[in-house]
Amino acid sequence: MDTVTRKTYDEVMMPLYNPFNMVLVRGRGVYLYDTEDNEYLDLFAGIAALPFGHSDPGLIEVIKKQAFSLMQTSNFYTNDKVLMLAKKLTALTGLDRAYFGNSGAEANEAALKLARRYAYDVYGEDKNEIISCDKSFHGRTFFTMNVGGSSPLTEGFGPKPAAITHVPFNNAEELEKHISDKTCAVLIEPIQGEAGIIPAETEFLQKARQLCNKYNALLIFDEVQCGMGRSGYLYVYQSVGVKPDILTTAKALAGSLPFGSMLAIEEVAKHFTKGLHGSTFGGNPFACACACYTLDTVSKPDFLSSVKQKGKKFVKVLENLNAKYDIFSEIRGRGLMLGCVLKEPYFNKADELLDCCVNRKVLLLTATPNVLRLLPALNITDKEIEKAEELLDLAFADFKLKNT
Ligand SMILES: *Cc1c(COP(=O)(O)O)cnc(C)c1O
Repeated sequence: MDTVTRKTYDEVMMPLYNPFNMVLVRGRGVYLYDTEDNEYLDLFAGIAALPFGHSDPGLIEVIKKQAFSLMQTSNFYTNDKVLMLAKKLTALTGLDRAYFGNSGAEANEAALKLARRYAYDVYGEDKNEIISCDKSFHGRTFFTMNVGGSSPLTEGFGPKPAAITHVPFNNAEELEKHISDKTCAVLIEPIQGEAGIIPAETEFLQKARQLCNKYNALLIFDEVQCGMGRSGYLYVYQSVGVKPDILTTAKALAGSLPFGSMLAIEEVAKHFTKGLHGSTFGGNPFACACACYTLDTVSKPDFLSSVKQKGKKFVKVLENLNAKYDIFSEIRGRGLMLGCVLKEPYFNKADELLDCCVNRKVLLLTATPNVLRLLPALNITDKEIEKAEELLDLAFADFKLKNT
């Protein structure tokens, strides 16, 4: 019963994923180990969910301490850690009130429900349209997947929720064409993740802010993937000077635990009155203690500037490798959220390239079939980046050889 192999996955897990051919058992920093004790360099950090890599000693201390004091209270009884965290998050974001859930999808679900409810209370039931971007990703709940702009994910699940419109990303004219008095919210990822690591243009975000003001719509930023220091700023919007009315943040927020938060300005937040939304585990002191530690660490100016610096170093590494192998048309992203876009004749071969990387024991992700995605731990060292260069060099050489 206790012996498991990769084959076990195919026998007892729902076939939603097709994971690589190893079973991971432990991690330390940027290294992962499987059942055979193979060592892998981890450049995806649990999909940007591990800002300090695996088993960070500081975080372990917080986990141990909190495990001995208090793990769960529900929200009918509050706790010290959730209140401390809400104080920190509101101070650091300039938003007024926080809600806590257990994932990015839940944070976005709460944001969308709040936006609809606010519009209903203030403007009436006709103001219910939600605008989001093509190819955007906002989670897998029924509401969030339909607000997401990737249509293959939503087919065959029955009637879709109404009043959801998609516009092309970074296209202010199209947004202007579709927004109206019926729009209750515009939801944007300031750096699109799943769509292929595409930063929003500052003018697009500025125009979205302007249009939302004009039509009394709420501007929601989904920083579930790009937030928490990944871009070299605590939140991406803070680098462009466009403030949302609602912000969602998750993935890295609690350092490695499942967690998410939705923050809003007072005028909007006050419409989430008693009983309108909730969660059993949301705001539990265990995750909140971890989030306090993570936020304290990540928000330090020195930490954020080190992310910028390491991002630059990583871009240089990737550009050097591309000068050698000539497989990418573009290396894009911000900080340590990077996408390598494949060029002709390697179009849509990101999975094959990723196979070559895994084969050389360096683990990354793709984003769309044409982009290799890097989301390393934010505290990756220069020496580890050099190790990454060494392994990626071997992997790209293998890929090039297979494709000539
Ligand atoms: C991952 C992600 C989500 C969903 O988060 P889960 O924790 O998987 O529910 C939502 N939005 C963005 C931008 C994401 O990257």
